Formats: sequence, C-alpha cells, structure tokens
Amino acid sequence: MSGRRKFGNKFYLTYKIKIPNPAFNPSLPANKKNNPSHEWKSKAVPVSKDRATFEEFKAKFDYKHGRRKLHLPDDKSTFADLLAEFEEHIKEKRLKPKSCSRYHDTFNSFKKIVHPDRMSDVTVNVARGWKEARTSQVAPATFNLDLRNLRSAWKKAILWGLAEENPFAQIEPLKQTHRRREIAADPDAVEKLLTAAEKWNPEYWLLAMTARFSGLRLSEITHLQTAGLDMAGGWVKVEAHPCACRECEKIGGLWTPKSYQQRRVPLHARLRAALKQHPRAPGITFPGLDGGVRTARSVEKLFERLFVKAKVPRPPRELVHVFRHAFGSENAKAGIPLPTLRVWMGHKDIRTTMIYYHEDDAHSQEMMRKAERYSRGDGENLVKRKICFRRE
Ligand SMILES: [Zn+2]
Repeated sequence: MSGRRKFGNKFYLTYKIKIPNPAFNPSLPANKKNNPSHEWKSKAVPVSKDRATFEEFKAKFDYKHGRRKLHLPDDKSTFADLLAEFEEHIKEKRLKPKSCSRYHDTFNSFKKIVHPDRMSDVTVNVARGWKEARTSQVAPATFNLDLRNLRSAWKKAILWGLAEENPFAQIEPLKQTHRRREIAADPDAVEKLLTAAEKWNPEYWLLAMTARFSGLRLSEITHLQTAGLDMAGGWVKVEAHPCACRECEKIGGLWTPKSYQQRRVPLHARLRAALKQHPRAPGITFPGLDGGVRTARSVEKLFERLFVKAKVPRPPRELVHVFRHAFGSENAKAGIPLPTLRVWMGHKDIRTTMIYYHEDDAHSQEMMRKAERYSRGDGENLVKRKICFRRE
C-alpha cells in the first residue's frame, strides 16, 4: 500500500493518490488509454530520521487507509486522533484565530463532560447525555455553538475515516428566545457601592466609576487604554488593538470588543471629574500588579470584596455588570433614544437594548403630548439627528 524510501538521512513514506481526470467523458466507457477516469500520482512525504518511528507511522497509515479503502471506519481511532486531524485541518483551511479558539473551547468542555476515548464510544446516547449536562452550564446560544462545532467535527471525522456515524446529527439545537428578563439595577445600591469604593481605594473607585458611567463590559474595562479616555474630545473609546495578554494571545494577539462593536461613549461629567482627580499613566488604564492586563477573575474578586464592604447583597454572578445595567437603566429612564443607547452600550442586536426600556401608559400619553407640541410648532424635536421619511 505504501512504501519506504530513504533520501538523504530521512525516511519518506511513498504512496499513490487517485486524481480525477478533468477531460474524462462520462458518456463514453472508461478506458485506461483513450478515456481514463482518473490517474494515479505518486507522493512522498518526509516522516522521520529513525527507522523505528517511521515503521510505526507506516503501520498506522496502512491500517487507516486500508480500512478507508474498504469504506470501513477506523475502529481503533480515538478522540485524540480527531483532535490531531482537526489541528491539521485548521492549519490547512487557515481558519481565523477566533473561530479556532471557539473550536478548542467546545472540545475542552466536551472532554470535561464526556471523557471520550474511542470514537466508536461516542454514541447518540452519549451525545444526549452531553446535551443535558451542557445545557445546565451555559446559555442556549453557547450550547448551539458547541453543537454546531461538534457536528462539523464529526462530519469531518466520517470523511477522514475516524467515525462511522454522526451522533450529533440527531441532537436538536435549543430554541433561542431572546432574553426578555427585566434588568433592574437599584440606583441606591449602586451609589452605595461607589461611595464604598471611594473610601477604599482611588484606583478601584475609578474602575467602578468607569463601569458605571460608560457602561463598559468587564473585558472592555480591563483592556481600556488611557489613550481611549479622550478628555479633550469628551469620549471613552472602545477600539480593537493588539494585546499581549494570555486570553488575546490565544486568538492571535488582537483584542476586540464583543461582537466587534467598536464605539465611542460620550464622557459623563462625573467620570471626567474623577479622572481629573486621579490622572492615569499612559498605557493600560487599570493595569494589574505586573503592569499587564488584569484578568477578569481578579476584577471579579475585587468587586466581591466591594459588595461586602458596601453591605450590598451581591447578585449570583456578573458583579461588574451591575454597573453596566445601572448605566443602561438610567439612560433608558432618562429618555435616551433606543438607537443612541444601543451604540453607547455596544449591542449588536437592538433587541438587547430594548430590555432596558419599559413602556407604560403614563409615558405613552406624555410622548403624545410632546408630539402635539411639536406639530403645533411650539415643541422641541427631541431626536437631533437625520431622520429619513419613508415615501409610500
Ligand atoms: Zn488582551
């Protein structure tokens, strides 16, 4: 099936591959001489310098390709084989670092739940068990992403002769209802937290103030550059930039905000005052002890202590998000138009911003009075932006 050739000091594995003939005419009978359907080409790949390693590799190669030729899956193949093949596939396809890391996350979480060894052990029942366990861990969107990744990995596994069937093909994705849970951030509790932070440590206070008055997400705060705090222009800029932290290194050394929503949030007067009081050094605005980007966990821990200090009952998770929610809720209440708040918060989907808006009768009536004043000519147009009227 395959042969051995020594060239220089290396052993080469030689084998033949079938290449379809583009000029083949299917309406005529296949004939080696006049109408060949394919041709065979020799290939030689360098394997190793020592003979024993080479022979081992060759035996594996022959076993796998022998079964493949008979259309049999390789029953000895393991999940580790799939991962190795997939690594090659990623390199070949030149997938983007971010999607590579998503695949890795999927595989890692799958390994933790299932502990797969042989590929043939992963049956539909195992896949169902995985679904149950994974659903309790993550949101539906994340689960569906994992499912999609595993499905396509197994599809490839069948192609590569590592598996016989796709156990994930029969698993239904979860329904993604857009979360309409109400987010209420208690303004008094948030003020209490800010006061406690100010008493505790100016650095932490500034961090909490940034979260509260620009509504940045946790990773956007830890990655905020001092250059992004534009005091003259009056902006907090959330922009993609090269980053050498461990998380960004994994995805190719470029930090990007969630869903790539780069944006500028106008600087709030209270945040401006706080920044004037404690100017930041150039570079990372809130560096960790080593001067690099803080980890998300370290900031979470810091906020855990802050909640204890302020004697505010803490939510089960996403402590920094309390400030983001406060930012969203307050601005929605203040009557900031939905499209504007969407930009400020960096939501990809405007439905997420809508969580902050609650329409009630009193507000509805008040808006109509405003519209009446405007049409009479003595009111104010609240939306100072270009509005396109649809021509019917
Ligand atoms: Zn980073």
